[in-house]
Amino acid sequence: NDLASLMDVPVNKVIGTCMSLGVMVSINQRLDAETINIVAEEFGFETEYVSAEVVEAINQEEDSEDQLVSRPPIVTVMGHVDHGKTSLLDYIRKANVIAGEAGGITQHIGAYNVKLADGRHITFLDTPGHEAFTAMRARGAKVTDICIIIVAADDNVMPQTIEAINHASAAGVPIVFAINKIDKPAANPDKVKEELANMNYLVEEWGGKYQSQDISAKKGIGVEELMEKVLLEAEMLDLKANPDRRATGSIIESSLDKGRGYVATVLVQNGTLRVGDVILAGTHFGRIKAMFNERNQRIKEAGPSEPALILGLNGAPTAGDTFNVMEAESEAREIANKREQLQREQGARTKKILTLEDIGRRRAIGNFQELNIIVKGDVDGSIEALSDSLIKLSTEEIQVNVLHKAVGEISESDVTLAAASDAIIIGFQVRPSQAARREAEREGVQIRLYSVIYQAIEEVKDAMEGMLAPEI
Ligand code: GDP
Repeated sequence: NDLASLMDVPVNKVIGTCMSLGVMVSINQRLDAETINIVAEEFGFETEYVSAEVVEAINQEEDSEDQLVSRPPIVTVMGHVDHGKTSLLDYIRKANVIAGEAGGITQHIGAYNVKLADGRHITFLDTPGHEAFTAMRARGAKVTDICIIIVAADDNVMPQTIEAINHASAAGVPIVFAINKIDKPAANPDKVKEELANMNYLVEEWGGKYQSQDISAKKGIGVEELMEKVLLEAEMLDLKANPDRRATGSIIESSLDKGRGYVATVLVQNGTLRVGDVILAGTHFGRIKAMFNERNQRIKEAGPSEPALILGLNGAPTAGDTFNVMEAESEAREIANKREQLQREQGARTKKILTLEDIGRRRAIGNFQELNIIVKGDVDGSIEALSDSLIKLSTEEIQVNVLHKAVGEISESDVTLAAASDAIIIGFQVRPSQAARREAEREGVQIRLYSVIYQAIEEVKDAMEGMLAPEI
């Protein structure tokens, strides 16, 4: 209705045009930007988004090559429960004292930066696990540069190990393997490497491309070598940032502290953050009153890849929200308010939802190249068969990717991965858990359930050919 009156055309015509695009709408329905563009074009209009433009203008400064300097890698540790994620993070945190820094890392603020003996730095996200990693990614934060995947040498590659590997791969983040607990008599690192090789993750010492290090997180054996390998990986990534600009980055944690008000840990990804800066994060903003590092020391500024605990926000932003430093408080307030309004109007969030019905339409306008799918099923054989058939549906224009496949019900973690990767979940002879169903509704992730393989393949194929009748 709004769009029709903006263009001064009858609302039926707008609805009709939407239908011809395969979008079934009611008169009061909000349209996504892409649909608005196409519809407007049909009526000879060009679109300009005023409020969105304000929001996007924040990130538009480009850094020139000579402003860029290298920055430390940001690392997340993932792996199966009890394989040693926390122990490794704890060991590194404590060992860092040896590197001659004043005072150990006493605070848990969600991230910490360590200085190695040779002066190089690594930043660790202190919330281990792929769930946190992907939840942040689902909110738009691309925080992690490198993943350490930890596998206990006295155990096997477990379902959560595979999940972690798939979550890292879906994000395009390079992996370094840490084979842990080698101090244990029952440890058999070679067996783990063999299992990884069977999954096509061949480690370097066996001629593959994946770096791997045998360690004991408990005794500290091999941890320095592991850090070396992480830094080698970082070198290949050639990570750079421009410290001489207003800071941007991500929210790692936030909470309400009785004495101090709202506190948030931020990770600076570009620029330098300073006390006194006006910061905008999600729907919250404020002027930074004070900053602390992970050693609970007051700091005046934080540069690229450095975490900082900040005071002064007017609320608690969500982990994974990106933040920007703004020139004026009025500007920050205006955008924060606009975002809040948009969020209210749209229910949960402004994220675009991909459904099977969208694929044909997006293909029709020629901007669709990848279809990401997560396959869950009741038996391994059918999952393999279904995944293979789906991948084979790939055409020159559409690449079908199976991001993750596993036996079992559709879990919350599957939904988070789908939300972060614009994927669709296909369940074969399995159902989503209650929690997964709720999460999917909230995140707008499409789950399709089948009991016949052929039918699943046909529907995806039809969608790819743009023939699937939209569901209302
Ligand atoms: P997480 O669930 O992956 O965070 O695993 P934890 O770090 O909590 O470790 C699980 C258990 O394994 C704890 O009891 C640790 O003490 C133990 N553990 C972790 N690393 C090692 C190691 O290198 N050697 C031995 N012997 N035990 C370890």
